Amino acid sequence: MDFSFTKEQTMLLDSLRDMGKREKFKELAAEIDKTRVMPHDLTKKYAEMGLLGMTLSSEYGGADEESMTAILAIEELAKFSPMIAATVFESNVGAVRVIDMFGTDEQKRAIIPGVCSGEHSVSVCMTEPEAGSDLTSLSTFVEDKGDHYLLNGRKCFITGAGEASHYLVYTRFGEIKGYKGIGGILVEKGAPGFTFGKQEEFMGLRGMPSCDLFFDNVKIPYENLVIKPGDFGNLMLTFDIERCGNSAMCLGVAGGALEEAKKYAMDRTAFNRPICEFQDVQFTIADMAMKLDAAKLLVYRAVSDAGKGLPSIYEASMGKCFANEMVKEVTDKAMQIFGGYGYSTEFPIERMLRDARAWSVAGGTLQMLRITMASMIFGRRFDQRKPE
Ligand SMILES: Cc1cc2nc3c(=O)[nH]c(=O)nc-3n(C[C@H](O)[C@H](O)[C@H](O)COP(=O)(O)OP(=O)(O)OC[C@H]3O[C@@H](n4cnc5c(N)ncnc54)[C@H](O)[C@@H]3O)c2cc1C
Repeated sequence: MDFSFTKEQTMLLDSLRDMGKREKFKELAAEIDKTRVMPHDLTKKYAEMGLLGMTLSSEYGGADEESMTAILAIEELAKFSPMIAATVFESNVGAVRVIDMFGTDEQKRAIIPGVCSGEHSVSVCMTEPEAGSDLTSLSTFVEDKGDHYLLNGRKCFITGAGEASHYLVYTRFGEIKGYKGIGGILVEKGAPGFTFGKQEEFMGLRGMPSCDLFFDNVKIPYENLVIKPGDFGNLMLTFDIERCGNSAMCLGVAGGALEEAKKYAMDRTAFNRPICEFQDVQFTIADMAMKLDAAKLLVYRAVSDAGKGLPSIYEASMGKCFANEMVKEVTDKAMQIFGGYGYSTEFPIERMLRDARAWSVAGGTLQMLRITMASMIFGRRFDQRKPE
């Protein structure tokens, strides 16, 4: 396996590091966490740099770039904060990839150029109050009214909710039970009958919009159908690239925490010597670096095998599961190295630890990922549902 970066990728990463220094991303990350407000001018700058939608089709304004380039950019920016990487994530590995892969020409023309310029974004809307891991039990449904669909239901924990221009809603069509009845339709912000709940106040990822969606007899034109019922597998396959983005966020946060901890260990003295001279601190840093590198190898394998297409479910699940656990461990160890200062909001570590916690739930829990991996290892499906 060859994970060496191309010249262009190396140049991109250098330019992001320079940008981070120039634009004071460390300070910006603390500011976003404090105010819970995302700076929208950052999106404009990213668009000018060609960072938004680089993986999308060039025919519609993207750059046909391999997912690896976007993943590396997300990782680099997430070293400062996942919030600083958020729009690069959404526009390259988010729900817009479903539109790019399975949408109609009309849908692509309406959405992709706007995603690349930063004017549009697409939220993925799967989770419901009574259906999270058990997604195939979702109850949001559409009725076919003869010349349009009528959508009713509720979604929760939707990232980007309130701010995104478009919502890819996983919904049941008619009375068909289980996954066979689930498809995906596009709902535009402002559609009559489509409203938002109050914004969530999460432990971390502060500044990331997230709330409930309510659909009350929302009229949806037939042209907004993206994935017809029966093709649920396509929805889930595309979601695996989003999972690699989730993993890249973990690599970034852990990389940021490792950098901070290493620097602190060289600066901080105790017993008249820098704490990096204590063997336990050295071993802690070595363990952090080792776990981070192991996660990188798993995540890069999934993304590099995907090329311009989709990753294998097995590799994406394994990469995400390992990276999700790794980032919790690495940020926790970083906090220990910082001593009392790690627990203070004056330093970035407590924010990194809070931000680290989200990823093992968002995008599918650790348990659900293990169930997926186990079923592939054994070559059979293990039905989780209790018989009725
Ligand atoms: C920061 C964040 C961002 C999110 N963004 C989005 C988004 O943009 N769009 C979206 O649709 N959703 C989003 N979600 C929701 C997320 O996908 C769900 O929270 C997740 O899938 C788990 O669903 P749940 O919360 O209903 O937990 P549940 O499904 O109720 O699970 C509760 C616990 O039970 C465990 N469990 C359930 N079934 C099994 C089983 N069979 N075996 C073993 N353990 C099991 C779970 O692993 C978990 O630990 C987001 C969540 C977070 C925290």
